[in-house]
Amino acid sequence: MSDARIVIVGGGFGGLFTALGLGGVGQTTLISEEDHFLFTPLLYEYLSGEVEAWHIAPRYKELLEADVRFIQGRVTEVNLSAQEVAVEGRARRIAYDVLVLATGGVTNYAGVEGAAEHALPFRKLAHADQLRLRMIDVLDRIPPDAAPQDARQAATFAVVGAGASGVELSTKMADLLRDAFARRGLQGTPRVIVIEMSDRVVPTMDDEIRRHVEEALRSAGVEVHTQTTVRRVAPGSITVEHGGQQQEIEAAATVWTGGVRPSPLVDRLEVEKNRNGLIIVEPTLQVRRHANVFALGDIALCQTVDSPRLVGTAQLAYQQAGLVAANVRALIERRPLETRRFHELGEAVSLGTERAAVLTGGVVVDGALGRQARFALYTSRLPTWHHRLRVGASWFFEGTAPRPLSLERH
Ligand SMILES: Cc1cc2nc3c(=O)[nH]c(=O)nc-3n(C[C@H](O)[C@H](O)[C@H](O)COP(=O)(O)OP(=O)(O)OC[C@H]3O[C@@H](n4cnc5c(N)ncnc54)[C@H](O)[C@@H]3O)c2cc1C
Repeated sequence: MSDARIVIVGGGFGGLFTALGLGGVGQTTLISEEDHFLFTPLLYEYLSGEVEAWHIAPRYKELLEADVRFIQGRVTEVNLSAQEVAVEGRARRIAYDVLVLATGGVTNYAGVEGAAEHALPFRKLAHADQLRLRMIDVLDRIPPDAAPQDARQAATFAVVGAGASGVELSTKMADLLRDAFARRGLQGTPRVIVIEMSDRVVPTMDDEIRRHVEEALRSAGVEVHTQTTVRRVAPGSITVEHGGQQQEIEAAATVWTGGVRPSPLVDRLEVEKNRNGLIIVEPTLQVRRHANVFALGDIALCQTVDSPRLVGTAQLAYQQAGLVAANVRALIERRPLETRRFHELGEAVSLGTERAAVLTGGVVVDGALGRQARFALYTSRLPTWHHRLRVGASWFFEGTAPRPLSLERH
């Protein structure tokens, strides 16, 4: 079966790294909605202009060898019995012998009133562009002689969720907005609020790194509301509840980082899933009762993870891609399939435009050094040697200074 047709749906951490790991086996086709991969851990740095789109979102055509066919499109249906997938706008279905499902997650608004309509998601380049433009627009509307309280009121932003994403985003926004206030000579300070249901920030992270996160939030002036639930999002406000009391807060924008659910394609798939809609996979990452179908990353429930903290992370999808690539080869070559355990590779969290915290081997490196360590770590995780070298050289020679709000590239 060396001409086996392998179809990979979704070109994120799971799908792209599977394609790269297959190394020319069979006839591989990667289908994904966008024309580029996205290194999501650095999306906050794209928002702040510390990195550029080409650094973190290289096009598949630049990453894939000529023996992998790339189709840009959205897969609308997977027919497991006919072994084919349908791509939006294409009359012909694509047949497979082996299928890899890696469609990742989408923002989960958890049914909160108005959230899907009025909150901004933060998962793609376009979302970061939209948020940056919103911040600039808000700043541009503040009169230079506005009273401090009026400027603060106008520049109020809410972030839902104080997981790693909410913390990274809010500290970055606070630094950017404070810098913009100073550059524009505005009086007062901007207001960035984080709303978190549980009793602490980064609830799934190690206590050691949480201390650094809490201190960074304080020094960035981010207002943290724990044990607080979002009840409603409206075009200019967010209503929250704490201790049985509801409060409406005026906000120029609400950004939602409060949850992820599997992509809609998975909802429609008739395979075994848990109650959160995750596909249950065997330790080989094969979908139960479908030996020629693999699932990984944010859509898969796998038992072989060393820590629950790994669930829903790029580091898990990345490790799983190595196993899927090995097992697709084994399946095609009729060899026994492998199982592997997936380990934590350390934690890294951006804490504004000047600092980051990196936890490795039980030690936290914080501050400007942490920021450098995080960039170095992520350079090594970018796809392909060629891309890593180009990006590493660009960061080394051109630097990674943030771009002030209003200096746009056209
Ligand atoms: C802003 C942000 C920051 C993050 N930071 C970190 C971090 O610091 N560390 C960490 O470990 N994890 C981080 N994560 C989580 C990490 O990005 C995910 O866990 C990881 O990307 C999951 O990989 P995946 O392959 O399952 O899905 P994804 O990487 O999301 O890839 C899914 C791909 O499938 C495509 N797709 C979806 N549906 C279809 C369809 N129907 N047809 C065709 N294509 C489709 C999507 O466009 C996407 O390209 C972050 C996530 C976000 C959003």
